[in-house]
Amino acid sequence: MTKIPPKLNLARRFPDNMTTAHSLTLKAKNGEKGNSKGERYALPAFNVTTFQGINAAFTAFELLGSSGLLAFSNSALKHFGGGDPVFGLEVATAYVEKKAKKATVKIATHLDHGDYTSEGGRKVVQASVQMLTSVMADNSTDKVTKTAMPLSKNIELTREVVDMAHPLGISVEGELGVLAGEEDEDTKSEFSTYTNPDDLDRFLRETGVLMLAPTIGTMHGPNKGKPGTKVKLNITLAHELLKIANVINDEIIFVAHGASTLYPNVVNYAVTQLDKMSDPSGVRQKWLDFVGTDWEQIQGLIGAGFCKINTDTENRQTFLSALLGSLITDSAKIDIRWYDNVCTDALTQSYIQKLIVAGNHDVWQETKIDVAKFKFDLNVSLKNILKVCLI
Ligand SMILES: [Zn+2]
Repeated sequence: MTKIPPKLNLARRFPDNMTTAHSLTLKAKNGEKGNSKGERYALPAFNVTTFQGINAAFTAFELLGSSGLLAFSNSALKHFGGGDPVFGLEVATAYVEKKAKKATVKIATHLDHGDYTSEGGRKVVQASVQMLTSVMADNSTDKVTKTAMPLSKNIELTREVVDMAHPLGISVEGELGVLAGEEDEDTKSEFSTYTNPDDLDRFLRETGVLMLAPTIGTMHGPNKGKPGTKVKLNITLAHELLKIANVINDEIIFVAHGASTLYPNVVNYAVTQLDKMSDPSGVRQKWLDFVGTDWEQIQGLIGAGFCKINTDTENRQTFLSALLGSLITDSAKIDIRWYDNVCTDALTQSYIQKLIVAGNHDVWQETKIDVAKFKFDLNVSLKNILKVCLI
């Protein structure tokens, strides 16, 4: 290991309108929108798993003039590739690049929870460095023993990814501390630990990462606490960590994982549909028991330099709610695109809502909708919602 980690190669040119997650989130940390410099905002990273999901995200980015961040997990890449994540990577990136070419906004593609601790995972990280604009090197947990990875090992593995990615202009996100919860096979963990400030200083200096996911109390998945309780994030620790990071390099961006804010209107909509069909699988209460993180808490994190907010669970729930609704409306439609369109439109609504609350609009062009008039409502079609708020 050389003493000084390689700097991110800023001379790298990407396909039209593509850039790194770091350059977009740095703009957000500096509060840059259009030609103005205002309030700090954040990029919700959308975990896309289908081509329709990518379409939904692009529609939302274009309507709002947002900086766009599309995240792919290993299991999503497998899904795109019919079981082969590297093939999935090829087709998904080709699709995004073609879409971006016609875009009026800037887009970054990011590998979520890249696993550099196993042979299979390493192949995906290596291929992602060639095809995406940003990768996460998640080495905070030993995937075999399911315990926290020793700090020096986490540093060593993450540094390997930085050594490979930074010279090619690909930004790297590291993870320090362990996040509990489960969204899918990529994120499962039964325990969590807060990020230790002393570890943070060493980790940032020795790895050279420009993006870091510390743990300050967020949790993966839809059950972030006991039903009826509220998740409390350690915002004081977040500010303490930001101070340390800024001393090393004020271009370091923090990333919030497991920060999904569930929508009460989506839960109500799902429960209403389940009631109409007499709750055939007996999951009504499960829906009501979902616990997310309040947006006010996330807002506090944006102030502490968390400019990439991973958001997935609420988008999945929105999709699922819309699917339940479409089955109630008509479950004899033979054209499966009809169901697909209902779910994609719902997903687009969810994405628009997230971009608005994160303040990620008017960045590359003026927004095409009146954000104050946008009303997220699964009882109304996207077309009709836009009729009210299109400028
Ligand atoms: Zn995560």
